[in-house]
Order: sequence, then structure tokens, then C-alpha cells
Amino acid sequence: MHVKRQQFKAGDIIFNEGDIRDNAFILESGSVDIIRGLGTEKEINHATLKTGDLFGEMALIEPGLRSASAIAKDTTVTYVISSDVLEDRLQGLDPVVTSLFSMLIERYRFSRIESEMNPNDEVFGRALSGAGRAFHSPSTLTDFATRKTDALKELALEQEIRRALDKGHFKPYLQPIVSLADNHIIGFETLIRWHHPERGLIMPDEFIPVAERMNLIQAIDRKMLECACDIIPQMHKLVRDVDKPFISVNLSGVNFDDESLVFGIAEVIKNAKIDPSHIKLEITESAFIGNADKAAKILEGLKAIGVTIDLDDFGVGYSSLGYLHKFAIDGIKIDRSFTARARDNKKSMDIVSAIVGLANTFGLGVIAEGIETQADIDGLVKIGCKEGQGYLFDKPLTVEEALSKLIH
Ligand code: C2E
Ligand code: CA
Ligand code: CA
Repeated sequence: MHVKRQQFKAGDIIFNEGDIRDNAFILESGSVDIIRGLGTEKEINHATLKTGDLFGEMALIEPGLRSASAIAKDTTVTYVISSDVLEDRLQGLDPVVTSLFSMLIERYRFSRIESEMNPNDEVFGRALSGAGRAFHSPSTLTDFATRKTDALKELALEQEIRRALDKGHFKPYLQPIVSLADNHIIGFETLIRWHHPERGLIMPDEFIPVAERMNLIQAIDRKMLECACDIIPQMHKLVRDVDKPFISVNLSGVNFDDESLVFGIAEVIKNAKIDPSHIKLEITESAFIGNADKAAKILEGLKAIGVTIDLDDFGVGYSSLGYLHKFAIDGIKIDRSFTARARDNKKSMDIVSAIVGLANTFGLGVIAEGIETQADIDGLVKIGCKEGQGYLFDKPLTVEEALSKLIH
């Protein structure tokens, strides 16, 4: 479910006074007149709206009829926000944000009642001394202006991400994962990069969180998996049978309760005719927060396909050790912030050492991320960590560069 865009010509009626409220609109470009009593003697132009303005928003707040008409003044493009889209987005949010949002809506309703009341009325006086007043304070209004700008940026980015997916502007970069004993490449992690036609190379931190909020991440992750399936045969042609590297793909923890995820992944691997044991999926613990039983079932489903699964970013967040035996995982990746702290902090090193020991006890693989110095390798090897990745070996490489690493 996503936000749609709709274009209007000058003079088009977007909605009429008395129509049943359905959608709210945000103006992307152009301008819109809000008119009461259109075509009657009492016609009043209530407001002329410009880019970024929201109108028809009562449709999202309570059912009823439009209290004014909206007419495009010139060529106008709007984002159309339905209550289903709003519901869908709210479900993906932190519950605190959702409840704040509901409280703001209550304030909004309250302030409308207030503005429709007679200022000489005694009830009005009492209402003003209540919570409704805060809504009018200038600082709240400034916050709303910033939020409006942020929301517009996010909506525009969503449209751009959709376009980039269609046009194939997302590319995988590959970072070697090596055996720490002999620096031999055992696999590669795909790290997404956006080749933006105007802005150049965009790093994942700039768009993955938005893609996750907008439910676009599944399509992005699927694309990276398809790329990995394309690259594997090219790599395997270059090496001896015993040296065939795996490729790991990051899988977002958002919507990890959607069972079609397993089906989608199985389909990509089957279509590509790839041996699934060469694919590793990296999942963060965020996948398990919420419905842990459902997540466990999905992990079982993924394991049944034949792929291996690593728990990514281990050591940040809650990183419950309980995950290690509750969920069907094959290994953990120690987060790079941990590797960095262990560099000059004995206590952190002791924690990493305990994690590695525990993983070894459970028969899990351990990959240390963020290796930047020879001393990192020495320390990690000493505590029993056998695999790692980091700038010391290689930064994320283009596919061509990664392939060339396999030619001796
Ligand atoms: P991650 O999965 O933890 O990936 C490791 C990040 O650490 C990558 O950042 C990598 O370039 C960086 N890195 C590797 N070695 C070193 C090192 O020695 N030192 C330092 N300082 N950094 C190192 P990148 O590529 O910017 O990716 C950031 C995050 O974006 C990833 O963290 C992952 O959570 C997410 N991501 C990347 N690609 C995808 C994708 O295709 N799908 C999803 N869902 N998330 C992705
Ligand atoms: Ca990762
Ligand atoms: Ca990581």
C-alpha cells in the first residue's frame, strides 16, 4: 500500500463541498483554491494553497462530508493520502509515535471545536484555559513546519526509491570476508549502493531507513538477492571447487512476520538455479522483536530452503544470548563497534571473547566486522575468532573488482 500521486489541470475540481470525505491531499506542486459555497452568491475563497500544504485532512480524522470545495488553480500535482495508507504507516511505527499522533489528532479536533465556538461564550473561556491552548503556541507551530518539510522530503525520496528500483539504479558492492588464519577469501557481503543519476553514489544509511518505513525494503532486498544469484556462477567459474565463496545478503528485520518473505526468497534462488548453501542471509535482532514465535517460524522456513543465516550486528541493541539457541541461526557477526572498542579496552575484549566462546560452544560461526588493524586480527585469533571482514582487507568493491580478487 503506497501513497499515490494525482495530477490536475487548471480548473479541475479535486472535491466538492458536500462530497463524502475520502482522501487527504498534500500539494507537491501547483496551487489549489479552497472555496465555500462554490457557484452561489455566498461564494468565498477561503484559502489558496501552495506546495507542501495539506488539505482535505478531515477525511483522515473523522467521517463526514466536505465542508468546502478544492479546485486546482493551475497544473497541480498532489500526493493522495487515504486513511488506509495512514493506518498502514502507523502500524509500522513505534507505538509511542502512534500514540503521540493520536493525541495530536485529539488536540486538533478540540481546537476546531474551540474555533467554531463563540468567543463570548463561557465554555469557550474554559476550553482555552485547557490543553487546546498549547496547540496554538508558536513553538508548536514551528515544530509542525519542520515536520512538514521532513514529511515532504520523505515522500519525495519514496518516489525516487521506486523509480530507482524500476531503473536498476541500486547496485551491490561486495566486501570480502576472509579466513583470519591465512587471509583467504571465503565469501563476500553484498552492500547496496544507489547510483543516483544526479546525486552520484548514495550510501545505504541515507535511504534504507526510509525504504523500511515505506515498505519498500523487501523489494530492495529481493533485488540484492537476485544480483547475488547472478554473481555466484561468475565467481564459481574462477575458483577451484573447494574454494567456492558464499555471498551474504542483508535482509531487513522489518515485516519479518510476513510469510511471503520465505516464498519470495525460495523463488529467486530456484529461478536462478543456485545451490542455496552458497547464499547466506544476514538478519539483525530487530527481526525478532515483536512476534518472536512468528520470526522463529520464518527462520525455520528460510533454513528449509537450504540457505545459512547469520545474526548481524551482534553486540549492539539487546543482543540477547537467548537468541542463540531459540532461533535457527548458523552464526553471528560481531558488530564493528565492538571490534573497535575491543581494540584498546580490555573489558570490551573480554566481552567479545565471551561471545566467541559461547558461539563456539553452540557450534555457531563467528565473523568479526570492522577489522582495521593487524592488532585486531591478532586479538581476535587469540580468542578463537576465525573469520572476519574490514577495511584492512578490503573496502566494499564493485562486482568487477571483487571478481578480480578471485583470479590468482
Ligand atoms: P552492516 O550490514 O553492518 O554492514 C557493514 C557496514 O560496515 C558497511 O557499511 C561496510 O561498508 C562497513 N564496514 C566494513 N568494514 C569496515 C571497517 O573496517 N571499518 C568501518 N568503519 N566500516 C566498515 P555500509 O555499506 O554503509 O552499510 C551500512 C548498513 O546498511 C549495513 O550495515 C546494513 O545494515 C545496511 N545495508 C547495506 N546494504 C543493505 C541491503 O542490501 N539491504 C538491507 N536491508 N540493508 C543493507
Ligand atoms: Ca550485514
Ligand atoms: Ca553488521
